[in-house]
Amino acid sequence: MNARLPSANGHPLTLQRALDVLTEHGYRLTSPRRTVVEAVLRHSRPFTAEQLVAELPAIGRATVYRTLEILASVDLLTRLLQPDGHPAYVVGQPGHRHHLVCSACGVVVAFTRCPVEDLVRELTRDTEFAIHGHHLEVFGLCPTCQSTTHLTPPN
Ligand SMILES: [Zn+2]
Ligand SMILES: [Zn+2]
Repeated sequence: MNARLPSANGHPLTLQRALDVLTEHGYRLTSPRRTVVEAVLRHSRPFTAEQLVAELPAIGRATVYRTLEILASVDLLTRLLQPDGHPAYVVGQPGHRHHLVCSACGVVVAFTRCPVEDLVRELTRDTEFAIHGHHLEVFGLCPTCQSTTHLTPPN
């Protein structure tokens, strides 16, 4: 972990809180589902569904994917695109948020100020679309990776 950066989402999400949110939304806490939630919470950086499938050989692929969908639908997971364009998930407290992602090490800083709100209002007015979502990821090099890059000789 990088001590110089705040943790991914300020307050780490506990297993109990995650399970509570699921029950509040009416989802049954089957044992495989619980196992997937536990595995998800171990990730402080973005991870892919296939990564989780590989970590949980005892759980079926369909259950992993379904549970990730459920966690995303209750906002415990946010879908984001990695610098390489591949979709990934990042865990956090429920609520609308965006992410700053280090393209070298994958460390994530969440921010809740949504810079897209005004644009969404304007687009709704101008196009009469019923807009129901948007994605915004910001990529860069975290302070640690910036100093590592300085030390790496050019090849
Ligand atoms: Zn980094
Ligand atoms: Zn937003």
